[in-house]
Amino acid sequence: MSQRTLVTGGAGFIGSHLVERLLEGGDEVFVVDDLSTGSLDNLAAVREHPKLHLAVDTILNHPMMMDAVGKVDRVVHLAAAVGVHKIIEEPVETITTNVRGSEIVLDCCHEQDRPLFVASTSEIYGKAGDRLHEDHDRLMGSVAHRRWAYACTKTLDEFLALAYYHDKGLPVIVARFFNTVGPRQSGQWGMVLPSFVGAAVRDEPITVYGTGEQRRCFCHVQDTVGAVLGLLENEEAWEGGVFNIGHEREISIRELAELVKERTGSASEIRFVSYEEAYGEGFEDMERRQPDTGRIQKQIGWVPERTLDAIIDETIAYARREMAAA
Ligand code: UDP
Repeated sequence: MSQRTLVTGGAGFIGSHLVERLLEGGDEVFVVDDLSTGSLDNLAAVREHPKLHLAVDTILNHPMMMDAVGKVDRVVHLAAAVGVHKIIEEPVETITTNVRGSEIVLDCCHEQDRPLFVASTSEIYGKAGDRLHEDHDRLMGSVAHRRWAYACTKTLDEFLALAYYHDKGLPVIVARFFNTVGPRQSGQWGMVLPSFVGAAVRDEPITVYGTGEQRRCFCHVQDTVGAVLGLLENEEAWEGGVFNIGHEREISIRELAELVKERTGSASEIRFVSYEEAYGEGFEDMERRQPDTGRIQKQIGWVPERTLDAIIDETIAYARREMAAA
């Protein structure tokens, strides 16, 4: 059934794909985005759509948010400070946006009784590792490592959202996105696949941080958005459901670099760079981060469809188009 949906961060990488799919489904879509990491270009295909309403503003603007939430039936809260480089370089902005911003969104939803879908992150598991079930213990590094601030802010968002559900009866869903990739993701904020592909199509060095033996799982953004849409339509999920969204297939970052080089036919050198050189002193990475997605599969029958090869090829085609247009 078509609804009025507010998407915070709707001009971002995941947000813009979600907005397009909601509009295709007949929803009236309201977007609030401050364009900090998002971009109007991401919404180029739907900018003139009669059912799209765009506000370039920050979720920290409480009165504006109260007004925006009042206009819709449900809210999808994606707006956040993201990207490992950004989090290390702009810790105050990160913490403020992710904590105060989410408090404001939750307050507006509670005041006006609007169900809220909160985007969280696999980062909240910290260094915990493989086969991460939703109830897995979390393992945070030292406060000396700025990276963990992001995980802590998103963990607080989760606690707060679930507290609103349990104590005040606000319908909420919490979704933890694992590494998500696809067209429109920028390498500017340090995300690995667009960085590798961007370098490969230019025959520039592909820089692998650390040993490259660290492993990740990559899910195509359209599969991720399919999971979000499935959860939004699932009545039981709104009862404070917490779900991992990601692909279970793991690959090492070194293998990823080799695969990107092979599939672009690039002459790029694969260069190994220390974490200190890449992120500065005292950085800490996790060796593995693999989801167990059994819960969402059971809840809505979701499994990601795209293979990593297909994802890489699409990312390459996108990067080449962008390069040609520049
Ligand atoms: N990485 C890399 N080269 C890059 C960017 C990232 O080797 O140009 C590594 C990074 O250190 C991490 C992995 O790739 O081990 C994934 O990084 P990303 O920032 O995309 O996501 P994360 O999983 O760390 O949140």
